[in-house]
Amino acid sequence: MDLGIKGKRALVCASSKGLGLGCAEALAEAGVDLVMNARGAEALEASAADIRTRFGVDVVTVAADVTTAAGQAAVLEAAQGVDILVNNAGGPPPGMWSDWDRDDFIAALDANMLTPIALIKGLVPAMMDRGWGRVVNITSQSVKAPIAVLGLSNAARTGLTGYVAGTSRQVAGSGVTINNLLPGIHATDRAVSLDTGVTKAKGITMEEAKAERCATIPAGRYGTREEFGAACAFLCSKHAGFIVGQNILLDGGGTNATI
Ligand code: NAD
Repeated sequence: MDLGIKGKRALVCASSKGLGLGCAEALAEAGVDLVMNARGAEALEASAADIRTRFGVDVVTVAADVTTAAGQAAVLEAAQGVDILVNNAGGPPPGMWSDWDRDDFIAALDANMLTPIALIKGLVPAMMDRGWGRVVNITSQSVKAPIAVLGLSNAARTGLTGYVAGTSRQVAGSGVTINNLLPGIHATDRAVSLDTGVTKAKGITMEEAKAERCATIPAGRYGTREEFGAACAFLCSKHAGFIVGQNILLDGGGTNATI
């Protein structure tokens, strides 16, 4: 399928690895020029070079922590005029509800709610002026069904989801769509770190921890960054203009719900 976005430009945050990289690769395959961001310059440059070679698109890199004011300023400067924004950043650490204090919540809200909102405010007005734009926020299945040890994530991402629900309806008339992609368990560094948490909590091996988590997924496996990226690219395509303010689960059936 021709996604109809060849020649457009996208900012993909947190995209040197994992789900962000999957989104960057799928957009590049559709002919989209990229601004890629991640914290570590080395992995970012390696991924950018690989994408340039494989897809022949223009890639600008911004090595910065996108959850900081300085990081957002650097990313926004490089990304002015983009047609597509993919919001992403690392998730908060797991823990126990009774241990989290105000600073923990502020950090989680900054990373997973206020950062995407700042980038939406910085980039969507120009999309509206041009009459076309796409925003995809990478959130989590924990928005639909809470994961108790990820209380900081549950809270911050649900806050973003509420913001998107209203804002997406305010900008849709200008040709800009905002939607959320909700990953379940995917084979990325984040999954390795969560599996490691399970090994420590239960005193089991990595293989046992992975098998235990796979058993919770009807598809019987973890998702891949390629599958995730393809869904993102479709949401950013010319065909997805009527999809507004939605929360789309990619979880292999892990969330046991009818709708
Ligand atoms: P990951 O840890 O594999 O990805 C890391 C990437 O994000 C790297 O490129 C890193 O440089 C970049 N990054 C992280 N924090 C950043 C920051 N503050 N500024 C700039 N770049 C930053 O993570 P992932 O598995 O790809 O997950 C992406 C998002 O989806 C995370 O918020 C994660 O919590 C969420 N999520 C992941 C899963 C999963 O199973 N992988 C499930 C549910 C939710």
